[in-house]
Amino acid sequence: MKSRTLMRLALTALLSFSAVTNVFAEDGPAKQLFGAVKLPTLGAPQSAGFYAKGCLAGGVALPVNGPTWQVMRLSRNRNWGHPRMIALLERLSRDAAAKDGWPGLLVGDISQPRGGPMLTGHASHQVGLDADIWLTPMPNYRFTNDQREKVEARSMLKGDTLYVDPNRWTPAHAALLKRAASYDEVERIFVHPGIKKKLCETVQGDRSWMAKIRPYWGHFYHFHVRIKCQPGSPNCKPQEPIGTSDGCDKSLAWWFTDEPWRKAPEPEKPVKPKIMMLSDLPKACAQILDAPGPQSADQVTYGLGAKAAAGSDVPAVVPDQPSAVPLPKQRTKTK
Ligand SMILES: [Zn+2]
Repeated sequence: MKSRTLMRLALTALLSFSAVTNVFAEDGPAKQLFGAVKLPTLGAPQSAGFYAKGCLAGGVALPVNGPTWQVMRLSRNRNWGHPRMIALLERLSRDAAAKDGWPGLLVGDISQPRGGPMLTGHASHQVGLDADIWLTPMPNYRFTNDQREKVEARSMLKGDTLYVDPNRWTPAHAALLKRAASYDEVERIFVHPGIKKKLCETVQGDRSWMAKIRPYWGHFYHFHVRIKCQPGSPNCKPQEPIGTSDGCDKSLAWWFTDEPWRKAPEPEKPVKPKIMMLSDLPKACAQILDAPGPQSADQVTYGLGAKAAAGSDVPAVVPDQPSAVPLPKQRTKTK
C-alpha cells in the first residue's frame, strides 16, 4: 500500500476516534452508549451502581471455550464480567463436572464489556456480577459459532404449566443449583417458581442453601447467578440481605396464584417508556465509558484461558446436528 494511502487511513482512524469520544462525552440513552462498546477498560475491576443501574470497569472475558464450559450467543459480546464472577463460573464448571454429574456449563449472558444497560433483554447484568447459565448440560463436543447462535435451550417446564416436567428434571440439575449456592460470594440465584417448588418438594437434608434460590419470572431454561458487591468497588450498591428461610412458604405459594401472571391493565393514555440515560447512572459510568481500553480482547481474557482451552479435553469435532441438545422453545422474557 502506498504510504500516502496509509497516512490518509491513519488520519481517518484518528478523526473517527475523536468523533466517537465526543459522542461519549455527551449524555444519551445508556443502552446505546454501552451497547456500542466492544472492549472493557483497563485497570482495577470496579462495579459502579446497582445490578440494574450501573456499569463495570476492568471487566474481563470468560474464554469462549474451557474444559468444562462453552459460551453461547457469541455475537452478543456479553461474556464479560468482574474477574471474581468469571473465576466463580470457571470454578463452578469444574466442581459441577467433578462432583455433581454435570458435564459442563453452557454460559449465556454475563455483562457487556463495560456493563451498563443492554439494547435487548435484561434489566440487570449491568455491573458484571450477574450471569445466566443454561439448564441444558454441555454436550461432549464443541459447538460451532453458528450453533452457539441457533441452538435453543430446553425448558424445564411441562408444556405451558408452572410445573417442572419430571421427565426433564434430574438430580444433577438440583446438584448444580446446590453447588452454585454453596459459594460464599453467591448471594442470589434466580429460577422459575416451578423449579423452586420442585426443590422445596425434593431436597433432603441440609436446606439452608435454598435461601439463596429465589423464584422469579422467566428462568425456566436457565438460572441466574448473582454475586455480592466485591472488594474494591466502593460505589457498588448492595442488595438487601436474603435472610435464612428456605423460601418454601407463602412467598412461594404466591407465584402459584393468578396475581404474578396477570396482565397489567392498559393505561388510559399511552405512557412514554422511560429511557435510562447515561446521566441517570452513577457519575463514574461516564468516565468508564470514556476510559481507554486494551488493544484486543485477548489481552483481557481471563487467565489466558483461550490458549489453555485449545489443549483441553473437549474435542473440536462438531456433528452436523447438535443432537445432544434438543431444539424447542422460543426464548421468552427474562428480567
Ligand atoms: Zn439473567
